[in-house]
Amino acid sequence: MKENQEPVTKSESISFIEQFIADDIKEGKNVGKVVTRFPPEPNGYLHIGHAKAICLDFGMALKYGGKCNLRFDDTNPEKEDVEYVDSIKEDIHWLGFDWENREFYASDYFGRLFDFAIDLIKRGLAYVDDQPAEVISAQKGTPTRPGVESEYRMRSVGENLDLFLRMNKSEFEEGSRVLRAKIDMTSPNMHMRDPIIYRILKTPHHRTGNAWGVYPMYDFAHGQSDYFEGVTHSLCTLEFEVHRPLYDWLIDQLKDSDYRPRQIEFNRLNLTYTMMSKRKLLELVQEGRVSGWDDPRMPTLCGLRRRGYTPESIRKFVDLIGYTKVEAINDVSLLEHAVRDDLNLRVPRVFGVLDPIRLVITNYPEGKVEQVEVINNPEDESMGKRTIPFSREVFIERDDFMETPAPKFFRLTPGSEVRLKGAYIIKCDGVKKNAVSGIIEEIHCTYNPETLSGGKQAERKVKGTLHWVSAAHAVNAEVRLYDRLFNHEDPSGQKDHDYREFLNPDSLKILNNCKVEPSLASAKQPDKFQFQRLGYFCVDADSTESALVFNRTVSLKDTWGKMNKA
Ligand code: ATP
Ligand code: MG
Repeated sequence: MKENQEPVTKSESISFIEQFIADDIKEGKNVGKVVTRFPPEPNGYLHIGHAKAICLDFGMALKYGGKCNLRFDDTNPEKEDVEYVDSIKEDIHWLGFDWENREFYASDYFGRLFDFAIDLIKRGLAYVDDQPAEVISAQKGTPTRPGVESEYRMRSVGENLDLFLRMNKSEFEEGSRVLRAKIDMTSPNMHMRDPIIYRILKTPHHRTGNAWGVYPMYDFAHGQSDYFEGVTHSLCTLEFEVHRPLYDWLIDQLKDSDYRPRQIEFNRLNLTYTMMSKRKLLELVQEGRVSGWDDPRMPTLCGLRRRGYTPESIRKFVDLIGYTKVEAINDVSLLEHAVRDDLNLRVPRVFGVLDPIRLVITNYPEGKVEQVEVINNPEDESMGKRTIPFSREVFIERDDFMETPAPKFFRLTPGSEVRLKGAYIIKCDGVKKNAVSGIIEEIHCTYNPETLSGGKQAERKVKGTLHWVSAAHAVNAEVRLYDRLFNHEDPSGQKDHDYREFLNPDSLKILNNCKVEPSLASAKQPDKFQFQRLGYFCVDADSTESALVFNRTVSLKDTWGKMNKA
């Protein structure tokens, strides 16, 4: 299967955001243009929550003939790194979106932002505050109690200019002084109470090195970067709603024409049984609780990719959940449903046995090999057919046999008949047990030669159909089965509990003795398959020609949901 086969198609459902955009175009705002941006901070790998933002930012531009910029919000040199920049670009491309040559960095605008800060100082709209962070914070007040003005608020323009320039020359210690916008300490909106717009940081920046001694705060950099880029619709998550008056105030001070960017907020993506905080995901990586950012149990895009998720399935999922103004937590089963739906139509069905037991067909000639024909995907005839070898000894799944059958067990039991999929109907005559342990080592069967496709009894129906692999032709493989990383729906939202307490100890199970059909011997990343009756699997990055490794992307059915209801 090729990655990214399908082009990104235009979504049909209209969200409230889209309605705003359509109205703005109709009213001729910003001469009817649509420019959006995706603004990741390069302090971690992208996760599925970011995919929701990416699909919207790029999707709206695509739908309305506009453009979407990729802008790295790199205003905090202490946490940012080029490793993250590279992974972010790879993941957006993988999702199916492209920013052409519009790869921007907030750090590209440090000069213009600095000039804007100087301009605010000169207009009496910003001042240097020498108070410690705790005092500034205490003076902020509360939503119901107005703030208190700093004793430095009325500093002269000359003194402010002198101090700010010297802050930038690293003459002062980190934290000793900040630049604040002079707005309104009594505003009901806390973000308008003289917000800090510049701070001293001495860590070298990954792009600008030691060129700057002061760095803009997020709120100061973000809206202004939008403005410098001609962004028309700045789409962000709900927590920024309360920042919007500050966003607008700063744009008012900066703008010199009719053009202005508009911020619109939507609800974050949250998923059950995982968490979206980059800081906590980094902790999982650093503490070795997962194998890396791309551990297939991680909600990161690289983790989902390694797990076998397709970009189409992620886009489909994002489309399904939609954009609203209400925070919610989405059921991970819906994501799993989306990937099943996608892979069902696109990947070949093959035979693999995870927990093999040998089955000997005692009346089948020794040394004989037949090539039986099977279809690759009943959902898509164009995927054709293939042959697989059948012989006297095959492997079947150990739990497809029960010596003393439970009620409604329609698979193999002594005396019963089942069909080996694509091959013959067989009947169990007995088992061979280990003399010491009593464990069943072999199942003995006889086959009916007339039951193969084309034979006289080919159409005869039996209750059970089993997948199998010819023992002499089987290829060994390691298979990694994943379960949810956490055993709590909302691991990071529990008061008085650390999310680590909810790590699922059984989230990874490694099976070393699996047997797969010979056509899989040459399987490579990013090959994906349905292992018949078991689920969807993909080749893992650790796989080599001599040692195949598969990941289970998802089982065929939602067993978790059922288990929890039982
Ligand atoms: P941080 O806490 O480091 O700021 P962040 O998750 O906000 O983390 P950013 O890199 O700043 O990460 O996010 C880039 C963009 O992705 C922002 O516009 C943000 O609103 C959006 N985004 C982040 N997380 C989600 C989420 N869970 N659902 C939807 N959008 C998200
Ligand atoms: Mg952020």
